[in-house]
Amino acid sequence: MPDKLYQECRTLISGCRAIFEDLREAGIDTIPLSPKKNTTSIPVSSEHQTPQAQENSSIPQETLADIQHELANCQRCLLNEQRTQVVFGVGNPNARLVLVGEAPGSEEESQGEPFVGEAGQLLDRILLAMKLSREDVYLCNLIKCRTPNSREPETVEIASCETFLKRQLAAIAPEVVLSLGQLATRTLLQTDEPINKLRGRWQTYAGIPLMPTFHPADLLQNPARKHQVWEDVKQVIHRLQDSGT
Ligand code: SF4
Repeated sequence: MPDKLYQECRTLISGCRAIFEDLREAGIDTIPLSPKKNTTSIPVSSEHQTPQAQENSSIPQETLADIQHELANCQRCLLNEQRTQVVFGVGNPNARLVLVGEAPGSEEESQGEPFVGEAGQLLDRILLAMKLSREDVYLCNLIKCRTPNSREPETVEIASCETFLKRQLAAIAPEVVLSLGQLATRTLLQTDEPINKLRGRWQTYAGIPLMPTFHPADLLQNPARKHQVWEDVKQVIHRLQDSGT
């Protein structure tokens, strides 16, 4: 089989696997083979209990640990083949503020933690200016596995992985989300608007106030944007102060 066709088949299979996983997470455990014969069905894997299934069986909502356990051997997209470890997320599981980036780089992968390296140090300084530390907030990415040569994640990879971010946010239930960069912001808000139009304006994700701003890696390339990011995070500070106890 030609290489290109082989790769296309693998991408298709990976996409199908993600669809089945999403169905399972939505609580759909069978798929009728025919609309006329609804007694015949294909079972969807029930290896892990889903949020919907948990709800149905009155089991408490899943925790971050549950999701991390499920992710450890995730093969929903082809990024699993070159990773050395999944970069799940770190911080306070009861955080009032969650920061969402894009995808781990090689340093993040080797340390198993999002936002390390130069961009991570810049983020630490932003948090310090907010009078916060990594232990106060929760840090994670849209995509949990490193992409080859730090390329932008592909649509099928985002579609495969975004469910884990959404489940993390549901488990934490923060008061505010700060989305860092275009990819995470567009995915969470389901929009095609560019980040420079979205940043600085409050949005809502699943009932949670969400502030989009530039990614720290972007600030390393465009230091002039630091002022805009500071304006955005000041709004986050005020929001947390207003809702603080
Ligand atoms: S990027 Fe996400 S969906 Fe793809 S293999 Fe890694 S954890 Fe799974």
